[in-house]
Amino acid sequence: MMEIFDTHLHLSEELDNDELARRAAEAGVKYLLVCGGSATDSVRAQEFAERSIHTFFAAGVHPHEAEGFDGDCGVFRRLAESRRFCAVGEIGIDTYYGFSGVERQEQTLRIMLKLALEFSVPAILHCRSAEGTSDAYEICYRLLSDFAADGGTFVVHCFAGTAEWMRKFADLGAYFGVGGMLTFKRSDNIREVVMQMPEDRILLETDAPYLAPVPFRGKPNVPEYLPLVAYKLAELKALPAAAVAEQTTANAFRLFRRAVR
Ligand SMILES: [Zn+2]
Repeated sequence: MMEIFDTHLHLSEELDNDELARRAAEAGVKYLLVCGGSATDSVRAQEFAERSIHTFFAAGVHPHEAEGFDGDCGVFRRLAESRRFCAVGEIGIDTYYGFSGVERQEQTLRIMLKLALEFSVPAILHCRSAEGTSDAYEICYRLLSDFAADGGTFVVHCFAGTAEWMRKFADLGAYFGVGGMLTFKRSDNIREVVMQMPEDRILLETDAPYLAPVPFRGKPNVPEYLPLVAYKLAELKALPAAAVAEQTTANAFRLFRRAVR
């Protein structure tokens, strides 16, 4: 059976998360990284992660939550002491929805990237631009250039940018999260970019409960669906699924190395 790593999911509000983790493990999704989008959400992620040895968590302030963040990092410093803590995230810039003002988002992202350096853990980035622009990529790239120069490592989760942006981020050492969109009928652009990603930088992720892969598209996503993404990637690369599983899990452990302490 394959052993894959869901490097980006959120806890379900409706379903029993322990049950979801059990079903994921049965489907070969052995490792889970739960992302926090606010202080409260990050505490929930920690509580969940500490219940299983194969479950890890990230803590951070999502760009949608930037407006409500007062800059107090005390809770994040406490969470960073957990043995299951392995990244700062989900953080980033989102001008597509723009739920928080962009200056506020940038200010929050700077604080979060500083924390990642302080804790010596990678950052998990969400980067989505307003329709027809690349404004979020430009801001993230500017901040991540400084972050990488200071020794920071990161993954751009659910990467849906152009090949050119992919290469620019890859030059900063970026990893890329690949999920359910890879299976969508109209995602030829994403498939093309994924085929050009360096093989040692690809991570699998569900982003559950969002972006369920085909044939579950439109339904709530759950980590046990992740093998569908691995199979799709294997098909595109004409590789055995086991090879894709092995490579992407190794990539995840290389990036989140604190997770194997
Ligand atoms: Zn997410």
